[in-house]
Amino acid sequence: MKIIIETIDHCSQRDPDAIGDWHIEKDNCIVVRVSKMDDPISELAVAIHELQEAFLCWRKGVSEEEVNLFDFRWAENFKNKLTQSDEPGGEPDAPYHWEHQASNQTENTFVLSCGMSLKEHDRNCENPI
Ligand SMILES: [Zn+2]
Repeated sequence: MKIIIETIDHCSQRDPDAIGDWHIEKDNCIVVRVSKMDDPISELAVAIHELQEAFLCWRKGVSEEEVNLFDFRWAENFKNKLTQSDEPGGEPDAPYHWEHQASNQTENTFVLSCGMSLKEHDRNCENPI
């Protein structure tokens, strides 16, 4: 399996509200793009989240199209204050809800194992470069 992880300028993200994004190419190559942040710990933590989520979705057969469609509809609902969570994967009816939650756990464990607080990580995630 081929995996590509890169940090990019936040303004280059497909979704301007996301600091991490994944897609799977035709040859099953997983491509993860993470917004640049002040600390590489946060960049890698988000990359690990996205990679795990992409892999779990791929294994379960949740397509990128399903995810993108859900995220698109969620963004509309979020604008109208009709969402339960502050991120689409946090919604219980998201097709990748379980995968997102499991990836959050891994992300947080990585951050804490690097000696960074989750508060500092959240701050980095809120201020991508
Ligand atoms: Zn996620």
